[in-house]
Amino acid sequence: MNAPNKSGWKPEMGAAGETGARPMTSSGDAGLALEEPLIFELGGFGKCGVDFDSEPGEISPALAKFARSAPVDLPGLTEPETVRHYTRLSRQNYAIDLGPFPLGSCTMKHNPRLNEAMARLPGFADIHPLQPMDTVQGAFEVIEQLADWLCKLTGMEAVAMSPKAGAHGELCGILAMRAALEARGDAREVILVPESAHGTNPATAAFAGYRVENIPATKDGRVDLDALKSRLGPDVAGVMITNPNTCGLFEREMKAISDAVHAAGGLVYCDGANFNAIVGKVRPGDLGIDAMHINLHKTFSTPHGGGGPGSGPVVLSARLAPFAPIPFVRRDEKGRLRLIEERGAKEHLPQTFGRMTAFHGQMGMFTRALTYILSHGVDGLRQVAEDAVLNANYVLRSLEDVLDAPFAHAGPCMHEALFSDDDLPEGFSTLDIAKGLIDEGFHPMTVYFPLVVHGAMLIEPTETESKAGLDRFIGSMRSLAERAQAKDESLKTAPHYAPRRRLDETRAARKPVLVYKGEGVPPGEPSLSEIGGS
Ligand SMILES: *Cc1c(COP(=O)(O)O)cnc(C)c1O
Repeated sequence: MNAPNKSGWKPEMGAAGETGARPMTSSGDAGLALEEPLIFELGGFGKCGVDFDSEPGEISPALAKFARSAPVDLPGLTEPETVRHYTRLSRQNYAIDLGPFPLGSCTMKHNPRLNEAMARLPGFADIHPLQPMDTVQGAFEVIEQLADWLCKLTGMEAVAMSPKAGAHGELCGILAMRAALEARGDAREVILVPESAHGTNPATAAFAGYRVENIPATKDGRVDLDALKSRLGPDVAGVMITNPNTCGLFEREMKAISDAVHAAGGLVYCDGANFNAIVGKVRPGDLGIDAMHINLHKTFSTPHGGGGPGSGPVVLSARLAPFAPIPFVRRDEKGRLRLIEERGAKEHLPQTFGRMTAFHGQMGMFTRALTYILSHGVDGLRQVAEDAVLNANYVLRSLEDVLDAPFAHAGPCMHEALFSDDDLPEGFSTLDIAKGLIDEGFHPMTVYFPLVVHGAMLIEPTETESKAGLDRFIGSMRSLAERAQAKDESLKTAPHYAPRRRLDETRAARKPVLVYKGEGVPPGEPSLSEIGGS
């Protein structure tokens, strides 16, 4: 690929950290990169951010036995100390509002501020799920309109709005499949999951009580249709297929897969988390899919990754619509919208499999997602998909000469570009590139997933990154690949400029110390500096 994304790094420039450890400062801060103790280490007792009117009076004898005998173990901070503590912590964080989040499969895109303005309108923000239905007709209208859009965009019959995330939606879809199979007296035991599926798919099938069997991928990263067909039979309840899949490829034979599964009496679940690549272009209903979750927090730009709750509505085919969960919104004969709960549900949906959540789902996310849809329209949504795919292909083609791109020969990718560690020299790994990206000011990409590729690096730029932004990212990636080729040892100890150095990830995952005990780290547990804090 040509010029604009050339790396600025040259071997004689040296690398981050090559000059040795940074000199210690007395404060622990490094320039404006701020260190911050735990709030318990900061807080003195007896300090407080608010003034109380008076000393507490006498405790009534009846309540005396509840009187506190020891001080409550809470840190005491003044208001400015509290504000600074959290602001300093927030500066150690990374966010979509700071820079790109190239995590593959996560669709970390910009959250338009218009969505936020709509979600904060008091008529949406200040309502309560137990309010009388006549007082929340506008909220029901949002749910109804969004549901209608989701059905139209996917070409499906019905949608269950209540699931609260993608994985929750998967469970909803599988439970609807199970209810449909049981209703015809044919429960079945096995769910087939291709190697190119997301990890939540086999987890969901197992959680719902199915035995999971793998279907291999072809060498161009797609489902092996012949292997799938030969495994189909009367014990197979259905398949769970991620499309576009986790190699960033569209399963071109999806219709043939659905037809084969249906012919064998099974049902088809599609993981629609990657819908961003095909929204407005393909209707999953036309591909024979029976159930698919949509991550509103991915395709429809509602915040996620620490920024907000997920939302995972599940669209259902005519076969599965009768088994959808309660509650759902329906219009009554007087034109008013009603939330159909247990009572009344039987007459509307006698075969419902039951309930997934206490209320109707993530109202704030519905408002944001509908705002996003209305502000784009069908043409705009189609352009979202096209630009997301264009950006991913730009990344793929700009890096394939410095990193192995295992499926680049198979044609353009969809929403994400996949690389392996094959071209990295001995002793350098995917992890080194990911940690190096932190020093470059980027959140790392998804690493070591999907498992079909060794040392996978999965990059999803999304459509909300500009070409200039992509060039910056590509320049950093090229620089890191070149440093690895030049066997720059400092890459192996990156990050050098982050608040923390490289952690012992195994120990941090297997032996996390999550509770502050007051006297420092409990005996026998690794201290922060042992797991890599420095
Ligand atoms: C994100 C994702 C999921 C899970 O969605 P959550 O909302 O995180 O539960 C499932 N499958 C794929 C392909 C995903 O990218």
